[in-house]
Amino acid sequence: MFYVDVLPLRSVDRALTYTAPQPLQVGMLVRIRVRGRRTVGLVTRVANDAPDADYVLVPVEGALYETPVAHEDNLALIQRVADYYMCPLGTVLETALPSFLRIGKVFKKEFFLHVTDITATFPSHAVQQLSVYRWLEQHPFVSEAEFLKNFPKETPFLKRLIEKNYVERCEQPLSETQSADTLLPLTDEQESVFEKLRAALRAGKFSIHVLFGVTGSGKTELYHALTAEAKNLGLQTLYLVPEILLSAQALAKIKIRLSAYGIRVGLWHSRLSDGERMRVWQGALNGTMDVILGTRSAVFLPFKRLGLVVVDEEHEPSYKQSETPRYHGRDLALYRARLNNALCVLGSATPSVESWNEARCGRYTLHTLTQRPSGQPLPKVFLADMRYEKPNFEGSFVLSTLLREKLSACLDRGEQALLFLNRRGYAPYYYCPKCRVRLECPNCKSYLVFHKTDRTLRCHICDTRIAVYDKCPACDFPMKLSVGLGTQRIEACLRQLYKRARILRLDSDAASKENDWYEAVLERKYDILIGTQMVAKGLDFPHLTLVGVIQADLITAAEDFRSSERLFQLLVQVSGRAGRAERPGEVVLQTFSPNADWVHYALKHDTVSFLDRETALRKQHRYPPFRRMVRHLFRSFSEKTLRYVVEQWNVFLQKNISKDVEIMGPAVPFINKAHRYWRMHLLYLMPHETSFLPQLQTLRQRFQMPSNVIDILDVDPTDFR
Ligand code: ADP
Ligand code: ZN
Repeated sequence: MFYVDVLPLRSVDRALTYTAPQPLQVGMLVRIRVRGRRTVGLVTRVANDAPDADYVLVPVEGALYETPVAHEDNLALIQRVADYYMCPLGTVLETALPSFLRIGKVFKKEFFLHVTDITATFPSHAVQQLSVYRWLEQHPFVSEAEFLKNFPKETPFLKRLIEKNYVERCEQPLSETQSADTLLPLTDEQESVFEKLRAALRAGKFSIHVLFGVTGSGKTELYHALTAEAKNLGLQTLYLVPEILLSAQALAKIKIRLSAYGIRVGLWHSRLSDGERMRVWQGALNGTMDVILGTRSAVFLPFKRLGLVVVDEEHEPSYKQSETPRYHGRDLALYRARLNNALCVLGSATPSVESWNEARCGRYTLHTLTQRPSGQPLPKVFLADMRYEKPNFEGSFVLSTLLREKLSACLDRGEQALLFLNRRGYAPYYYCPKCRVRLECPNCKSYLVFHKTDRTLRCHICDTRIAVYDKCPACDFPMKLSVGLGTQRIEACLRQLYKRARILRLDSDAASKENDWYEAVLERKYDILIGTQMVAKGLDFPHLTLVGVIQADLITAAEDFRSSERLFQLLVQVSGRAGRAERPGEVVLQTFSPNADWVHYALKHDTVSFLDRETALRKQHRYPPFRRMVRHLFRSFSEKTLRYVVEQWNVFLQKNISKDVEIMGPAVPFINKAHRYWRMHLLYLMPHETSFLPQLQTLRQRFQMPSNVIDILDVDPTDFR
């Protein structure tokens, strides 16, 4: 008799012990019963001795697959997520294991066909062989399934071709361009960074590197070269990219590029079929895939010999998962690299303050790329001080005089312009139309947000509330409520001003309707693009030479300690869209706060000073990364119950938690009600010592939370709305 610990796919905290008639292996999926109900679980431990369990041991009901579906390091990662993000182990397992595995679904292997001998000759009677051969020649790397659709009865002829070594049947589709494409010769600057990274990779030890390179400096090129190096060393690469609207498209592009060097690439993102997922899962597990390129959940894949972890755009907020388990893809990638003794590269043109601080302290190695191989300078940034502008469209400040001038000139030259508006996190605020003062929270340095219901200005962090001012505290002028612009409004304004321009509005609705808008832009079917956040990242528009940022300061209304960092990152990203090809680019920043830090540094492309200053500010206010933050969100249908319970919890917590933990709130977040639930939150700031999270969790378990209040603990939160 054997004894196995099995972690059920359920929201339970620990593995349960079962008996097994035959030996099972760690990482196998088995059918079990938990309190009489059938479910599936993962074997986490195998033993020969009977444990002293306080319950009657029952046998597992069989394995779903003959071999393990995960390795031991996956289990360690799952445990880490459960501990660090305070989430039941079983729930983490549900996230980590794709659903098709749990039903024991087996997929047929997919095969691809390609002609290997282009000089093949056929005797005159082999007509069918020849026609199959010709077809395959015209359809390189077609899947076998596709072939059978066209030639349902020709399998014997295909067999003959394979026997003669004219055609190969392989598991991995290769790219047609295999021999045509090679890695670009690296520039001197790239070469010196590459040499250092290569040496670190060869050392085979865990180390973290920040690749800080201006937009267009060839970071992607370096990732590719490193990936190829890892493959030569027999190591697998986990290549993470942030979840953006275009990821599937962008991923396919990188895949084609890497396949061209003979690297076997698997894609991993939310829009894959189960069959494709299965193939990638197995490819990672068996080591038949060299690179898995994907979004954050790829971090859970069962790599056989992981040696390189690349996190592209490591500063991207979308690495953080917004549902339980609320893990951060970048942070888990780091942990994963540690588990596997891998080299981890965090790349960005605007590193996060978290990574920057580590690099400055020497815990991560910093590598810098300052030049663009194209020789193209970074775009020139101009400031349009909106305090001195007059509303130019139906009472709103849409286009400044400067932006109008530049736009006309750009259109005259036959080039493209992008007008960028970020409405995410927009919150109405009060300002003085005369001196342009915006009201800030006296405690938190965040902007106060207007609440219509009781006409107060509120801070969403510390719950400071102030009655609306009628007059500006600085100059006595009547205060005004900001009105957010929408992309439609900008479009209307442009259509009025530039009657002949072809305008494309790219918010997510529009983009999802028109799939090939990107191609259309490349073919110059449009002159002006109006876009939101989604166009800021990663896209290459060669004919785009002007970027206008319409309400550059709006983002700061998203009231949290990362606002200026986000704003700066976004500005750099969106500016990076201009002037990627022959002509240099220009950027016009329209802002009401021309004296803000981020404006000052953005004008000079001085990311280093910005990050140093931001890091210093965070240190001064003891915000993350200098303390750890946890957001505790509460929801209830009843507002009264919610207030009461949150207050009770707060009192309980104050009494019991270590004095080193600072409690902020309770406060009502910006989204005060969602899906009929009222919402409130508390923020905890604590030193990094590992004891605080368990302390918090233990207290939470001791507290009797009424069933009509739901609470969520979010460790290292990035969204405070
Ligand atoms: P990043 O990822 O830093 O924004 P990319 O890797 O996308 O930069 O490179 C920007 C552009 O420069 C791409 O068109 C790329 O092909 C080109 N490029 C990068 N490295 C080189 C090089 N060594 N020689 C020539 N062109 C290069
Ligand atoms: Zn405040």
